[in-house]
Amino acid sequence: MNMTDIDFQGQRALIRVDFNVPLNEAREVTDDTRIRAALPTIQHVLDNGGSAVLMSHLGRPKGRDEQFSLKHILPRLEALLGCTVKFAPDCVEDAALDVTQSLQPGEVALLENLRFHPEEKAGDEFFAGQLAENGDVYINDAFGTAHRAHASTAVIAKFFPEDKAFGHLLAREIDALEKVLAHPEKPLTAIIGGAKVSSKLGIIEHLIGRVDKLIVGGGMAYTFVQAQGGSIGNSLVEPEMHAQALDILKKAEASGTELLLPHDTLAADAFAPDAQTRVLATDAIPDDWMGLDIGPETTQRFVEAVLTSKTVLWNGPMGVFEMEAFAKGTNAVAAALAKATAESSAFTLIGGGDSVAAINQAGLADQVSYVSTGGGAMLEYLEGKVLPGIAAIKE
Ligand code: AMP
Repeated sequence: MNMTDIDFQGQRALIRVDFNVPLNEAREVTDDTRIRAALPTIQHVLDNGGSAVLMSHLGRPKGRDEQFSLKHILPRLEALLGCTVKFAPDCVEDAALDVTQSLQPGEVALLENLRFHPEEKAGDEFFAGQLAENGDVYINDAFGTAHRAHASTAVIAKFFPEDKAFGHLLAREIDALEKVLAHPEKPLTAIIGGAKVSSKLGIIEHLIGRVDKLIVGGGMAYTFVQAQGGSIGNSLVEPEMHAQALDILKKAEASGTELLLPHDTLAADAFAPDAQTRVLATDAIPDDWMGLDIGPETTQRFVEAVLTSKTVLWNGPMGVFEMEAFAKGTNAVAAALAKATAESSAFTLIGGGDSVAAINQAGLADQVSYVSTGGGAMLEYLEGKVLPGIAAIKE
């Protein structure tokens, strides 16, 4: 159920938001992206005659710890919302109820850090019931924690059998992911990069058979090359993943997914920004040299694949993009996604910490269709796993 199906008139909406924002030493918010992202959901409730009770975690406190108090974000939240926010010094019992039970339509309250109580992460049902007393309707808008079965993200939903919904942000995340996984416009291409095959195995296996083209780049590609007998020199490799890599190649062929690996590489004689570099065949890298980016021929082939697709999913860089000398391949892929979005109306989705960093570094984040906010949650979704926070609303 989506928020738009709910009548908020006179209702207190208890909203699980993700206000886990970075703070500096003076406990000031240094990046308010996540607070801004929650505003449309809060505003929707207020505009429709309701009041909003916001709950979130912040950091990883071990018990009550003022450093991690959500009161630190209050000034920024009030400035962004343009109204005062009542702060409850705890998220359950009288300290919370004294604030939330008398909340009037149009008012906003913020509960203290959920993780001051170990019951939150433990998914404790009694605690979830206590939290539930703070609202009449439950809204989950925290995609970043949707893969966790915590009290406030999943367990609490059972106390609102008829009155629960996804917030705008979470609904948009699901919609974007479903545009890739459930009903993509074809051709569909997935680009998977980054350091390790082992951490992307689940995603690759889930995507094979669903995507038309699967591009494998970054450090993980060398495991595939070596598994097929190529010489990869000193490149990053997981020899224990050889069998899985060969299995992936076989499954891709059997299921009609074209798997594209790098044929050439930008190799270096050291893992350093000022190393000597040479373009080499990926399977003929001498000892002491290592592949740190895709080569120019590969870049062109990958870009071509993106530009001829109607849906593109990208997770993981093509090389060591943190060093300018080895960022060309990653930047070219980022630019290709932006171009496909603009010129062929392709739907382009980017997610996973490093690809988000890469698209930001390229300055193109606002030129792709969607940049996912939830790292771990997005990866699990792409692996085909059921996310407890999403299932709890759907049930
Ligand atoms: P991941 O977290 O698995 O997505 O991996 C991202 C990291 O992989 C980034 O820090 C990249 O620098 C690194 N990476 C990508 N390609 C290579 C490569 N060819 N050699 C070493 N590290 C790489």
